[in-house]
Parts: sequence; C-alpha cells; structure tokens
Amino acid sequence: MTMTMPIEPSAIEGKVVLDHVIPSRAPWSGVVKKGQILRIVDLEGNQSGDCILYNAANPEERYSAAQTMVAQKNIFLALGTNLMSNEGNVMMVVTADTLGRHDTIGGACSCESNTLRYGHHTKHQHACTENFLYELGQHVMGKRDMTSNINWFMNVPVEADGTLGIVDGISAPGKYVDLLAEMDTLVVISNCPQINNPCNGFNPTPLRVIVTEPRG
Ligand SMILES: [Zn+2]
Repeated sequence: MTMTMPIEPSAIEGKVVLDHVIPSRAPWSGVVKKGQILRIVDLEGNQSGDCILYNAANPEERYSAAQTMVAQKNIFLALGTNLMSNEGNVMMVVTADTLGRHDTIGGACSCESNTLRYGHHTKHQHACTENFLYELGQHVMGKRDMTSNINWFMNVPVEADGTLGIVDGISAPGKYVDLLAEMDTLVVISNCPQINNPCNGFNPTPLRVIVTEPRG
C-alpha cells in the first residue's frame, strides 16, 4: 500500500472550512454552500468516489447524469463540466481536475448487482447502495432518493459499439477535482467498497474532502 499523500497547504486557496478523510469503504455527506469549493482528493490512487448531489433547500432537486451529459454533449465529466440537476439548473461546476476524465454512467454497486456479476458468495459484502442508504437516512431520505450518480476517479470507457467497461483506473495518488457550488448543495459520497473489479484497484483506500471559501 502506498503512503497517504500530504497536500501542500499552499496548494489550497481560500479559507478551509472543512477538512475530512473519508475512511476506506465509508460514506460521508455535507452541505457545500453557494460560492464554496469542494475538493475531493484520491489520496492513494484508483479509488472510486460514488457521489450524488441534492439541492440542500429542496432535495427533490438532485443531480441528473442525463441532463449533465446532454448539456455538455459528452459522456465524461472533466474540467468545465456543469453538474446539472433534474430541473435543468447548474448545481456545481468542475473548476479543477488533475485526472481529466470521470464516469457518470457506471452507476453504484449494490449487494444485488454483486451477486449477479460476481456470485452469491459476495452477498454479504458492503456496497455503495448501503453507504448511500445509511447517509441518506441522516437527511430523512431513503431508497427512492437514490438517483443517478457520479463516479469520481473511476475509469469506465465506452467502446465504439457502446459497450461499457470497468477497467483499471487511470487515477493516481493525490489526484483531485474541485467543485464550485452554484447552489447550496448537499453532497453525499460513498467511498466505494467494491473489491470484485478494478474500480478501486481491488484495494479500497481513503478519500479526502476539503471545503474552502473565498477569504475576506
Ligand atoms: Zn461501489
């Protein structure tokens, strides 16, 4: 296992209002206020961060993978992507991206999909669905509120014939994305516990979330 990469304080602009390491396999949620920036850091590399966004003031408004792909006419998320809601509003904007490509098609893993893909012996394994349900419960939401999600740092190539792949990651220790909130946004993250495919390098590792706001 590689060492956790430190982040140079000089690399962080603005005033830090939250700095948290999400342990491997664990969920996290928090509200990023309009004008604040959420940095998600892949501390040890090749760690998928499954993520759903909600309007903090009205959670019925939430992230839409379809609206996001249509708005930018591209299926991958990268620098400049507007993360769109189901009501057609920009929720967050990717303002920095040291990786270059993230997935929003592959979905979140579940015990059920694990048993179909990898065999019934995986039924007991922890999955993103359980992480999301636990964390959504903190905000009086449940299964019906699990919508399309983002997979930060996950490599899901789409072949010319439309075939999806879940293949070896292209991320590396210290890679990060910055998300500027365009509305008060409840961000829910499942630090993906999947160990049956390469999305986490077969070794789930921590993610770090840092929220900053402009000084002054
Ligand atoms: Zn997962």
